[in-house]
Amino acid sequence: MDLTIDQTFPEIREAVRKLCAGFPGPYWRQKDRDRAYPTEFVTALTEAGFLSVLIPETYGGSGLGLGAATAVLEEIHRSGCNGGACHAQMYTMGTLLKHGSSAQKDAWLPRIASGEIRLQAFGVTEPGAGTDTTRISTFARRDGDHYVVRGQKIWISRAEHSDLMVLLVRTTAREDAAKPSDGMSVLLVDLREAVGNGLTIRPIRTMLNHATTELFFDDLHVPVGNLIGEEGKGFRYILDGMNAERILIAAECIGDARFFIDRASDYAQSREVFGGAIGANQGVQFPIARAHVQMSAAALMVNHAGALFDAGKACGTEANMAKMLASEASWFAADTCLQTHGGFGFAEDYDIERKFRETRLYQVAPISTNLILSHVGTHVLGMPKSF
Ligand SMILES: Cc1cc2nc3c(=O)[nH]c(=O)nc-3n(C[C@H](O)[C@H](O)[C@H](O)COP(=O)(O)OP(=O)(O)OC[C@H]3O[C@@H](n4cnc5c(N)ncnc54)[C@H](O)[C@@H]3O)c2cc1C
Repeated sequence: MDLTIDQTFPEIREAVRKLCAGFPGPYWRQKDRDRAYPTEFVTALTEAGFLSVLIPETYGGSGLGLGAATAVLEEIHRSGCNGGACHAQMYTMGTLLKHGSSAQKDAWLPRIASGEIRLQAFGVTEPGAGTDTTRISTFARRDGDHYVVRGQKIWISRAEHSDLMVLLVRTTAREDAAKPSDGMSVLLVDLREAVGNGLTIRPIRTMLNHATTELFFDDLHVPVGNLIGEEGKGFRYILDGMNAERILIAAECIGDARFFIDRASDYAQSREVFGGAIGANQGVQFPIARAHVQMSAAALMVNHAGALFDAGKACGTEANMAKMLASEASWFAADTCLQTHGGFGFAEDYDIERKFRETRLYQVAPISTNLILSHVGTHVLGMPKSF
């Protein structure tokens, strides 16, 4: 068994690095300037089969598990690319795979595995609810063989670049449900039919190129056959999928941290000021070394959480801790890398300011650091809850 922390799935890592070499800095800079979707990059990943590693072989994927998926995303980010445009194609189908009917799985999973169908939109967050998901109010009313959906979602990424969306709605009002987390359901929405027929998508321009949007539902009709699992149990189904999402995004943070550490240590060795390499000064060298130490520790937690997930064990706490440690490691590495580059860190051509903006997201989404600390403080350590 190879115990080095960055050598899992070496063939996959090598193949991803090769693919990413075809999408260098100028490609991402142009997309960033235009806030344009990296279609060519996503197509290349799809054709190489990297986005279907979590789909079982019976449905046309490679069934390799989360360990392989984390290797793919880490290498994408270490190469200076960004998996945010398509990482959800890997894991959003988990809700369908775990809780969908055989008919639903047979109908959709092989086409998701081949890339013919894009399922990379995940609609949970609402402006009036924020992190308190039990307060969502988008409501699906049953009318014959359809649900009729009214409400609003915010920050729903890739909705314009997806054929299907996993949507969390209320089917029983919060005040009528036995528990606040009851009465929510998951619908699979066919966006190709929905847009213009009860669904409006409005893009939100953000500090990074992330294709995120607002959604407005005005009597959108969704067939009852598109309900995933049992009505009213949707919150639990969504929580299941969130563990995979947090571990995968933690892997992206590890990749970002490695990108920044590689760039910072190279630059610190080559840049000469006052007659010597700036990296010989401990004020420059030690933060880079510290970033490496923090990233290495976080990577162990990401691997641990992924191994628990792949073994089918409970991993909610580990997924949260991995995501927190990795996002903090990538942010510290980003800040250190920018500082190491002095003024050049701010120049677009170095890609550091772009990656700096990109990696900041992960302390807020998909779950903010405070909510992770609250989970650990109350669920793990048994302290009282403030809310
Ligand atoms: C670019 C981007 C893409 C996204 N993509 C998606 C997507 O595809 N699908 C989707 O459903 N959502 C998506 N999100 C939403 C994301 O998951 C949320 O923004 C995130 O979970 C934080 O929720 P919020 O913005 O509502 O913050 P709020 O819940 O309003 O919280 C604001 C701040 O207050 C803090 N806070 C809140 N409550 C407490 C408390 N009790 N104790 C201590 N601190 C607290 C939080 O930590 C946070 O820092 C995306 C967001 C962004 C910015």
